[in-house]
Amino acid sequence: MFEDALKSYTNVSDLLNRIKPRHPVYCIYPNVYTETAKHFLAGFPGRVLYAVKANNHPVVLQLLFDAGVRNFDCASLQEIKLAHECCPGAKLYFMNPVRFEDDARQAQQRFGVRHFLVDHHSGLAPLLSEIDVANTVVFARMAVSHASAQANLSNKFGAKPADIPALLTAIADSGAEPALAFNVGSGVVDPEAYTYAIGIAADVLARVPFKVRLLDIGGGFPRSYPGLVVPPLEDFFERIRSAARTLPLAPNGELLSEPGRALSAPGLSAITSVLLKKTDRVYLNDGMYGIFWELRFKGHQQYAHRVFRNGELLSGETRAFRILGPTCDSSDELPSRIELPASIAVGDQIEFGSIGAYSLSGRTDFNGFFSNDVVMLSDPTARPPS
Ligand SMILES: *Cc1c(COP(=O)(O)O)cnc(C)c1O
Repeated sequence: MFEDALKSYTNVSDLLNRIKPRHPVYCIYPNVYTETAKHFLAGFPGRVLYAVKANNHPVVLQLLFDAGVRNFDCASLQEIKLAHECCPGAKLYFMNPVRFEDDARQAQQRFGVRHFLVDHHSGLAPLLSEIDVANTVVFARMAVSHASAQANLSNKFGAKPADIPALLTAIADSGAEPALAFNVGSGVVDPEAYTYAIGIAADVLARVPFKVRLLDIGGGFPRSYPGLVVPPLEDFFERIRSAARTLPLAPNGELLSEPGRALSAPGLSAITSVLLKKTDRVYLNDGMYGIFWELRFKGHQQYAHRVFRNGELLSGETRAFRILGPTCDSSDELPSRIELPASIAVGDQIEFGSIGAYSLSGRTDFNGFFSNDVVMLSDPTARPPS
């Protein structure tokens, strides 16, 4: 239903032959979303929850759901509502230890949520006061981080491993089903991070007097970008599969994962236009307050790209350019230079690929620049630059 609401073009050339975009245009490659989801579902040895925050566009949620992703990791009632509307029948998980008052109750009563999370004793009583614990799982989130992650997700959330057995016991005593969760970080570049964290989980689980059924190993699955090439997902799945053999889970035990980037990045591109060129500086109609928002953080510094002129690919000798956004803020510059055809000129377009994670969901209208032009590219063989 949401798919039909978007304008559709065959591919980027078709789009550029039909419109001369003033604003940035964000292109959904539906087949890439489908393939990416199927690949992850086939490889990961357990249940896959899509982390909605990575890209909450309704069409992205629907494409992932249609490809077989049935579980959604949500952090707010708003995300739960959105996933419920876009993907009827999906199973929704409320996996944030910080919630507004009454949101857990609404999540359960209005949207059937039966999975919640705490990371401290102080969070348990407020949760229990809002939910019915029957057939409900409450995860205890454990802090673990690994040096290979580009972003540490354990300095804000998570109980120390030593405190987890008491927290799991308190959950069990409440009548809810206790389960364990952790997040090794975002943009994890070394599969060893998961082996390491699963090892800690195994030690912790061996110290509780009952068997836990569910272990949620979080997100962090990486994507390769220019200058940040990571091992294939298969290496991660293989290491996770073998580490999981050591886990003292209940006989019907199950692993869960919460990929955000890995599912959302590959299938979206951004078509930007050159507004001004000054020697080695290229000013685009999009920037660090828009689709490139994520480049403020540690991690990759570029996206694969290609240049179009009048709807045709532009090639030729390249040189390194500084790339700047349209706002008046001097920090509105991409963190590294990129190679572009030396002849690039005002009116040309640059398409950036693999830009679906932490981009649409973080853009702002700072200084009056904002685009909501999201389109579909229908040619099943069309691929973004990668
Ligand atoms: C952000 C986040 C994710 C997704 O992380 P990716 O690195 O995009 O895979 C998963 N789980 C939790 C709890 C998160 O905060």
